Amino acid sequence: MPVRFASLGSGSKGNATLIDNGSTCVVIDLGFTIKETVRRLSRLGLMPQDVDAILVTHEHADHIHGVAGFARKFGTPVYLTPGTYQHKKMGELPVLNKINCHSPFEVGSLTITPVAVPHDAKEPCQYLVTANEITVGVLTDLGHITPHVRETYRECDALLLECNHDVVMLQDGPYPYQLKQRVGGDYGHLNNVQAAELLDSLNLERLRHLVISHISGKNNLPNLAQDAVQPLLSGWSGSLVVASQEEGFGWISLD
Ligand SMILES: [Zn+2]
Ligand SMILES: [Zn+2]
Repeated sequence: MPVRFASLGSGSKGNATLIDNGSTCVVIDLGFTIKETVRRLSRLGLMPQDVDAILVTHEHADHIHGVAGFARKFGTPVYLTPGTYQHKKMGELPVLNKINCHSPFEVGSLTITPVAVPHDAKEPCQYLVTANEITVGVLTDLGHITPHVRETYRECDALLLECNHDVVMLQDGPYPYQLKQRVGGDYGHLNNVQAAELLDSLNLERLRHLVISHISGKNNLPNLAQDAVQPLLSGWSGSLVVASQEEGFGWISLD
């Protein structure tokens, strides 16, 4: 089976990204209740037992809320950094794997490369998942693009990229001053312009799918994010998708 990926939902109310190569299926983050996760998995034709592992990026609720409950109910192994584990009281987990966010590791037939990112969490990382020489990158929840991020995400066949906010909408929006500072700061979230700027250093000849992700419900609009990235994609023949909070997006196959 070709490598394929999908999302149960993307945004500050919950995230979960599935990557599957037919023999191993992992979910990156699980920010929904068990019931909601099961409902959303069924939209993708999956049973909870089809998920072989949960990879956690960091301890914010929209990424970790459902992890421990799901893992206990279905016996799913969990991978996370020591900092994330320490910071979030998760109770007993059936299988706990503490990872070094600078060392790749294997889950079944998938190679997972964690990437440390600047975000206001204890020890946050994002992930590249490689199988059959296909690499799917997930990159959300970071305040700025570091040289390390730029380098490690250069060669992706598909990329889920955070376009969290539009700078003007955040400035003029309903958030209190402190929260505006946090979201817009160096350890907050990527704005549309920062996200677009990353595209400059990607191998766009290799990239076939770009998914705009983790869009703020209050400080951004899908068309603003699209308008920001579009100029960097002139001549690019891949597919551009916008992930939503409610629907995420359906399976995208990379054969
Ligand atoms: Zn988040
Ligand atoms: Zn976060």
